[in-house]
Amino acid sequence: MPDNSTNNFAGIEIAAKTMRGVIVSGAGDVIARRDAVYEPENLVSEISELVAGLREVKPIKSVGVGIPGLVNRETDRVLISMGLPSIARDDIHSELMKATGLRVELENDANAAAYGEYKAGAGRDGRDLFYIGIGDAIGGALILDGKLWIGASGCAGEVGHITINTEGIECECGNTGCLETVASAPNIVRRASERLNRDSTSSLSRLAMEESFTAGDLAHEATNGDDFSIMMIERTGRFIGIAVGSIINLLSIERIVLGGAVMEAGDLILKPIIEEAGKRSFQPCFESTRIVAAELGADGIAIGAALLARDFGGG
Ligand SMILES: [Zn+2]
Repeated sequence: MPDNSTNNFAGIEIAAKTMRGVIVSGAGDVIARRDAVYEPENLVSEISELVAGLREVKPIKSVGVGIPGLVNRETDRVLISMGLPSIARDDIHSELMKATGLRVELENDANAAAYGEYKAGAGRDGRDLFYIGIGDAIGGALILDGKLWIGASGCAGEVGHITINTEGIECECGNTGCLETVASAPNIVRRASERLNRDSTSSLSRLAMEESFTAGDLAHEATNGDDFSIMMIERTGRFIGIAVGSIINLLSIERIVLGGAVMEAGDLILKPIIEEAGKRSFQPCFESTRIVAAELGADGIAIGAALLARDFGGG
């Protein structure tokens, strides 16, 4: 009799200071979820501990890990990580396999999220998609005919570093005026703070009374009807829409899926993205592209990593 008891997979998202782990069934459903904080110097042992905690809930066949860095999937080496430089060292993949005793698939976080949406979310009934993840940074990934398209360097899909403003501020990547310098969560907060400081009429906004606030607070205020917050979210959507219009013109792709914490503003941000993309792309291309919100929410990267483990880590 076939033993289906271990047909479950763990997916781990490594964020800047926190980790999220999920167990996903062979059918792609989330069975369990655990969050943890970690110290970068203990990353391997802390991932291993999180996996051990998940294994207490259900047996696990293999593990997928989504990291904020560029992974060479042939050698399983982390090539570079701007968000978590300590992860680009030695052979973290082998260390993780040794520490967990399980097969491990290591993948870039945007690629993992794209794969998750493709298999179990907003792209599941399609063939090709472009995924854009908008959070503390902006990542992107391209899936063509079911395969992640990584390009000659392995970093295809870096939509966060498309130039939006030739006179913009410097980006972490060395360029100036990248999409990320205006539309990532920290940069939305920066733009909103600068505006609140110089525009006295904006003091009507509840955010002006806060010492510090997050992009999530801004999205929350916008959904509560705060005019200033709505305006900031809408302007952010228009910047993203410029990049989306370029992607449409370049690829005429069937579907563009937008995820990440910033998309929690829902239609308030999705509508201006679609409007702006429509203005800036060739009409026949625009009309053949569906621009939709991701469906897997805050579990997206972890679910995608688990599904990569299911599809590529079965050994
Ligand atoms: Zn950049």
